[in-house]
Amino acid sequence: MAPKAGGDAAKVNSAVYKDKSKPTDIRLSNINAAKAVSDAIRTSLGPRGMDKMIQAANGEVTITNDGATILKQMNVIHPAAKMLVELSRAQDIEAGDGTTSVVVIAGALLDVSEKLLQKGIHPTVISDGFQKALQLALQVIENMSTPVDLNNEEALLQAAATSLNSKVVSQHSTILAPIAVQAIRSVMEPIPGGIGARVDLRDVKVIERVGGTVEDTELVQGLVIPNRASNVNGPHRIEKAKVGLIQFCISPPKTDMDHNVIVSDYAAMDRVLKEERQYILNIVKQIKKAGCNVLLIQKSILRDALSDLAIHFLDKIKCMVIKDIEREDIEFVCKTLGCRPIASLDHFTAENLVNVEMVEEINEPTGKYVKMTGAANSGRTVSVLVRGTSQAVVAEAARSLHDALCAVRCVARRPALLPGGGAPEAAAAAALTQAAITAPGADHYCLRAYADALEVIPSTLAENAGLNPIETVTELHVAHVVDVDLGGAPGSAGVNVRRGRVTDMRDEHVLQPLHVTASALALATETVRAILKIDDIVNTLN
Ligand code: ADP
Ligand code: MG
Repeated sequence: MAPKAGGDAAKVNSAVYKDKSKPTDIRLSNINAAKAVSDAIRTSLGPRGMDKMIQAANGEVTITNDGATILKQMNVIHPAAKMLVELSRAQDIEAGDGTTSVVVIAGALLDVSEKLLQKGIHPTVISDGFQKALQLALQVIENMSTPVDLNNEEALLQAAATSLNSKVVSQHSTILAPIAVQAIRSVMEPIPGGIGARVDLRDVKVIERVGGTVEDTELVQGLVIPNRASNVNGPHRIEKAKVGLIQFCISPPKTDMDHNVIVSDYAAMDRVLKEERQYILNIVKQIKKAGCNVLLIQKSILRDALSDLAIHFLDKIKCMVIKDIEREDIEFVCKTLGCRPIASLDHFTAENLVNVEMVEEINEPTGKYVKMTGAANSGRTVSVLVRGTSQAVVAEAARSLHDALCAVRCVARRPALLPGGGAPEAAAAAALTQAAITAPGADHYCLRAYADALEVIPSTLAENAGLNPIETVTELHVAHVVDVDLGGAPGSAGVNVRRGRVTDMRDEHVLQPLHVTASALALATETVRAILKIDDIVNTLN
């Protein structure tokens, strides 16, 4: 009997053993899948980072350097890898820039946690250790940041320029950076009694247009409508315009259902035409009576916004008409012009129109568009017309401008700047290494591991710039440790990719918003802690 019992016990034991190894396997598989995503975009980090050419299933090609854009289009299947894609998106929403850095940091943190797991440290302990390390790192970078005055245009320009440095369109940063700064400054609203300012990026409308070069990108204090005027013989330029935005159509009404009306004699047909003419004439008369000379018509999905007859009449009363204003643009148009959309003819009266200094249809070889400037009671909005030689260039310029706008918005939200080039990460790493010496128990390993992981940023910046990453990082480490040892403020030594060595980043004017780096560290740590805590993947039935 005894051997049998022993055999059973062995079986039970082995089952327990198997159960124990499963969480470890799952964790390692998750870590490896997520690390693969991070490795895929590591080469894009920094001003000397490479770009990716993304080919969509429909053959469309995107060239970009933006982490969030690359990951969004990547076909990721593993659930843990998807978490890193989400992480990049979260950073994009929270800060708008630093979308590559956040994933690279998360990848490095996963790498070191794998080693800590192999040492036999429990995942929960690692997770708590990382949280402590994060708090310390945030403290360090906050201490080393310099507050900025939002009226200091120079500082805002530097933040925008640093963000643009690493883009495909970086050579145009002298044009794009001032545009980003001016755009944000025109729409920001200071928070009463608080620090910083509120910025809603929906108030900056970026319009992409192929034709010209990125150098021709311009900021318009007003409205740009990427449509042409529908007039045939009507005016194409109106000074001191009275503008109305309507949500109804100027075309014969249609029934809800498809049906045919058979007209059998000429008299009846004449009547139908007369009715139609009368119907449209009635609308146009009302428009004339209200004194409107520029008419904007919201896009209708049910029928034509304008019939030929309506265009003919509007031409006659010299009213410029622009149709197909997208539904989602209506809010921006209303805010910019200071008007309200008019939903029915009864409300089309003079008091519902707005005065605009100049409405002009611009005619370019690549197409026409309408520009409206000088609205009497306009809200805080601006339009940016981004141009470029091809669709791919225009799209990347617009994405880069978005990052620059976000960088300036971050400074507006939390007015403090950090030196770039891996300086904040290196300073935090030096402080963490120092703190690890006296930290008790597993925290000792966790803080040290976190410090190692942070050095991935300077190391990758150096690697991408063709420098020796080991030499650069050790040089940087020494520079920062000396600062910490001397009891001074953390320094701003960083990887100077232009000169190929470690220098003071403030002298190079490479400055980035505190909010971008702080949010990257916090979000990356949060995701890594979440991945460490997963011990099983359960598939649902459907
Ligand atoms: P992300 O998508 O994370 O913003 P980027 O490709 O824009 O990635 O690279 C950002 C990193 O590049 C930051 O760490 C920033 O400090 C660094 N960087 C930007 N410009 C320079 C520069 N001129 N010299 C050194 N580092 C720079
Ligand atoms: Mg960037």
